[in-house]
Amino acid sequence: MFNTLKKMITELGFTTVKSIPKESVIATHRVVDYSPENNSRFKLKQNQSYPRDVNCSTCSHQVVMSNWTYDQYSKMKVKVRVVCFRCLPNIVDKEGNPRNIVASPNSEMRKDWETFIEETDKHTT
Ligand SMILES: [Zn+2]
Repeated sequence: MFNTLKKMITELGFTTVKSIPKESVIATHRVVDYSPENNSRFKLKQNQSYPRDVNCSTCSHQVVMSNWTYDQYSKMKVKVRVVCFRCLPNIVDKEGNPRNIVASPNSEMRKDWETFIEETDKHTT
């Protein structure tokens, strides 16, 4: 369905948000799919991701979250749904495009993230 992360993100239309809305889905990598060296591809520390005490709501694998996202997520009293990038296409198939997939809070962080996604696709496809 989506042969690259970049395509998935472009087609699903990830949003830029100042804070994580209640009705959103956080899409991220499984820990097993994310090597710590990936962080060197980010210019911004807020975008660097680490394993967290959080699991994908679908496959239950532990996930990584960026410093910014995890900071927001850990402050939420009612947690939003977390889905790994492997499960996301199935969710889109079954439920349609989830609204408010969280990307980043501003254009600078978003650009940094998009560059990262392009680089990741180059390394994995
Ligand atoms: Zn999953």
